[in-house]
Amino acid sequence: MTVLDPVLWLREFASLIDENADALTELDAAIGDADHGSNMRRGTAAVTAAFDEGVPATSAETLKQAGMVLIRSVGGASGPLYGTFFLRAAAAVGSDGIDAEGFGAALRAGLAGVVARGKAEPGDKTMIDALRPAVDAFDEKITAGSDFAGALAASVAAAASGRDATTALQARKGRASYLGERSIGHQDPGATSAALLVVAAARALS
Ligand code: ADP
Ligand code: MG
Repeated sequence: MTVLDPVLWLREFASLIDENADALTELDAAIGDADHGSNMRRGTAAVTAAFDEGVPATSAETLKQAGMVLIRSVGGASGPLYGTFFLRAAAAVGSDGIDAEGFGAALRAGLAGVVARGKAEPGDKTMIDALRPAVDAFDEKITAGSDFAGALAASVAAAASGRDATTALQARKGRASYLGERSIGHQDPGATSAALLVVAAARALS
């Protein structure tokens, strides 16, 4: 059975964030306070630094540690939100790698955590607008009989569409909401980093 190694997933996420940090910060400069790239880079670098000290024994503990490190090390809205994502995802996975079913459950639990914590709805121009389509596409493909990699590929595409669709939206949550209609016409930074989270899983699996 194909399983995703959560350490690899998080390491891929950290390197994608590192590569895209300037772009994420530029997006946040347009509708926020120009720190999303640096926030996420600090957080994901702290997550991988913790792995360098020693990798937790189980997949669940690995995701839990990542969540706690993100909450501790990232200032800004995205730290607690991504932290909550991984803490909730941790509760949905077992010990030895994440199989397709576990990954679907982890994504759904993580998304529910972000919604509970941030109270954003679909269309509010947040990371949820990339995460929710990613979760739905993954589940749909698995239900239709797709394998893990196939479902992840569909999830990556859905997250990218969701991310792109945030450009036309007016922000109703977070700092960007202060801009009102002036937030329209800019891609949401958090939706952009959330799409990278799914890309990271696809890379880690292959
Ligand atoms: P801050 O806004 O505190 O500077 P960041 O710049 O790191 O934090 O993150 C901004 C991103 O966080 C936004 O682009 C958006 O996607 C996400 N975000 C903000 N508030 C919420 C919320 N209530 N629910 C979900 N996501 C949110
Ligand atoms: Mg910001």
